[in-house]
Amino acid sequence: MSPCQQCGACCASYRVDFSIHELDEHGGRVPSGLAVDVNDAICRMRGTDHARPRCAALVGTIGQQVSCGIYEWRPNPCHELEAGSDACERARARHGLPPLPH
Ligand code: SF4
Ligand code: SF4
Repeated sequence: MSPCQQCGACCASYRVDFSIHELDEHGGRVPSGLAVDVNDAICRMRGTDHARPRCAALVGTIGQQVSCGIYEWRPNPCHELEAGSDACERARARHGLPPLPH
C-alpha cells in the first residue's frame, strides 16, 4: 500500500497552483469548483492557501487514512510530488509524521 494513503501531509502543506488549462471548463480534467483563480493563467486548489492549508479535495484524517477525492483528475503538481522527496518529508515533519522508511 502506498504510504500516501496513511498520510496526506503534502495536501495540507503547500499551495497547489497550476495552469487554468488543466481545469475542466478549459478542456482539462480538474473540477473547476475545487479551484480558485489566481490570475488569467494560473489557478489554485481551493484551501491550499489558507493559514492552515488543506486541499478541498482531500478526504480523511491526515496521518491516519486519507484519499484524494479527485485522484484521477488531480492537477500536475500533485503528480509531481513524489513520496520520499524533500517536499514530502518537509510536509510530513510539519504534521508531526516520521520520515518514510527507505
Ligand atoms: S507527504 Fe509524502 S507520504 Fe505524505 S501523502 Fe504526500 S507524498 Fe505521500
Ligand atoms: S488534488 Fe488531491 S492530491 Fe492534489 S493536493 Fe488536493 S487532495 Fe492532494
